Amino acid sequence: NYKVTVLGAGLAGCEAALWLAGKGVQVELYEQKPTHFSPAHKSEGFAELICSNSLKAERLDSASGLLKEEMRRMGSQLLNAAEAARVAAGGALAVDRDTFSAEVTRMVEAEPNITVHRERVEHIDESTPILVATGPLTDGALADEIGRLTGDERLHFYDAVAPIVTAESLDYEKVFAASRYDRGEADYLNCPFNKAEYEAFHAALASAERAPLHDFDAGAEQGAQPDPDAHGKKADTVTVYEGCMPIEIMAARGADTMRFGPLRPVGLIDPRTGHRPWANVQLRAENKERTLYNIVGFQTNLKWGEQKRVFSMIPGLENAEFVRYGVMHRNTFLDAPRVLSAGLCLKEHPNVFFAGQITGFEGYMESAACGLLAARNIYARLEGKELPAPPIDTMCGALIQYLTTENKHFQPMGANMGILPPLPEDQRPRDKRLRYMAVAERAVASFQQWLDENNF
Ligand code: FAD
Repeated sequence: NYKVTVLGAGLAGCEAALWLAGKGVQVELYEQKPTHFSPAHKSEGFAELICSNSLKAERLDSASGLLKEEMRRMGSQLLNAAEAARVAAGGALAVDRDTFSAEVTRMVEAEPNITVHRERVEHIDESTPILVATGPLTDGALADEIGRLTGDERLHFYDAVAPIVTAESLDYEKVFAASRYDRGEADYLNCPFNKAEYEAFHAALASAERAPLHDFDAGAEQGAQPDPDAHGKKADTVTVYEGCMPIEIMAARGADTMRFGPLRPVGLIDPRTGHRPWANVQLRAENKERTLYNIVGFQTNLKWGEQKRVFSMIPGLENAEFVRYGVMHRNTFLDAPRVLSAGLCLKEHPNVFFAGQITGFEGYMESAACGLLAARNIYARLEGKELPAPPIDTMCGALIQYLTTENKHFQPMGANMGILPPLPEDQRPRDKRLRYMAVAERAVASFQQWLDENNF
């Protein structure tokens, strides 16, 4: 009889435990609640939604809808629980969080192959397969243990994340490719400001509305040093924050602070004017395919609506599509491209698997999907097989590919259409809705083929 240990009864842990149990695997599931709560978890139930109650869009031609379809095909039980807890939310799947959690808890507790231990785990025993799904607020001795296994002394990051926009939504009449002083390849896209544009932008940014910080993040703004390029810098304690000054705080320090920081125009010539811009925003490719761009230095704590309003004033970003907004909260995640294999186990410790937000799959449904993928990989291992990663034209496959591609600015990533490879030029509908539908249909067919070929 196969036996697997799962740490954490959150979204990823419950999906994985239920799937494995359904395969007849004996699952030992450890959950620290109610003996210990993270600063964001409040209830005793499993699969607690700690913030929004939305599991996002359902339409197949949306990134979240496509992800759900792939999850359904993998046998997601959390989607069944969500169905039972559904509340009206237009085209989105939103749930009553207490009903959802109660339903998942009931399913787990009713499963004879799962033994629940309400215990805080501090060590990883890798003599048998173990799945770590303890989430983005993993801390204490367990975080130290993960740090030892991965060679990272600390995994606690302050996640001051910059927004990401799609390449296809940029205005290339304004945006130009260049590196400063023409050094190396033209690795960046540049958004040049003239003086009047910059002044209007500065005024809007300095007065834009910020999101409240959670109690446990409250020290994050203190002691921040300007570093235009510092995402996910390690922090020493919960209250010390190194490296990532939110752009709005920099703006509030004076009209020119950003112009001598991340918006410095030095070494750049705007091909439209033949002159150096007054200020310049750089965009850095977020993925190898260059379908997504990160706004360099724009880690931010502005409210999302404000980010859209103010950052759309950047020349070239007037119609930008934001696939991720900037956020600021504590986050714990692996340096996945360095330590994690496509099978979601540590390269150096193959019995230690990871799932959920801690891997870099960002979001509730993404975490659950990651649990399903990890469970399949574990099961394949128990059966003496290797499961190939899902094809990269599927949402799960694209996320795995993102996780395992070298990236020194690695940050968690949620499902979005920008990470899927574009359709061939001659098969690409102009209309966005039709294009997304074609991409989604390709993904579903590809995913189903992968499932059929790897059906245990
Ligand atoms: P979790 O759901 O956090 O589950 C981890 C479980 O492990 C918990 O039950 C925890 O108690 C348990 N655990 C932890 N350590 C131990 C231990 N040592 N021993 C035993 N058990 C342990 N995503 C969205 O899509 N929408 C949002 O609105 C959203 N808001 C977020 C807000 C915050 C503040 C944070 C930090 C993240 C948010 N996320 C959001 C991101 C992410 O989707 C959620 O964090 C999600 O819950 C991650 O799922 P998970 O299964 O990886 O971890």
